[in-house]
Amino acid sequence: MTIFKKIIDKQIPAKIIYEDNDVIAFHDVQPQAPVHFLVIPKKEIRSLADIQPDDTRVLGLMLKKASDIAAELGLAKDGYRVVINTNENGGQSVHHLHAHVLGGRPMAWPPG
Ligand code: AMP
Repeated sequence: MTIFKKIIDKQIPAKIIYEDNDVIAFHDVQPQAPVHFLVIPKKEIRSLADIQPDDTRVLGLMLKKASDIAAELGLAKDGYRVVINTNENGGQSVHHLHAHVLGGRPMAWPPG
């Protein structure tokens, strides 16, 4: 069981921003920007490389919720970055699909 599944199941605490039947969003425990939250599906999907045709709906919900929360937290005007680290070369450490949303400072490109 991943740490994110434990958050979904309320076995460990998290600073939850939003939750419904499909997705949950919470602040990252090690923020890499003034605002850094994660949006994850409640369904256990290992990574973006593992999505199935049935998962397109929840992917859309994740991005819509990322956009809505970013707006609520005041990030929309100046902008923000959405990142989905995928498998080893992508730097994924928790093997439950998640979108990072980072904002509140300018982001460099290319990423490290
Ligand atoms: P990734 O490296 O893309 O798999 O990102 C995993 C993210 O999960 C990292 O930014 C971690 O800081 C974050 N993280 C790990 N454990 C927790 C937790 N218990 N609550 C919130 N965020 C977490």
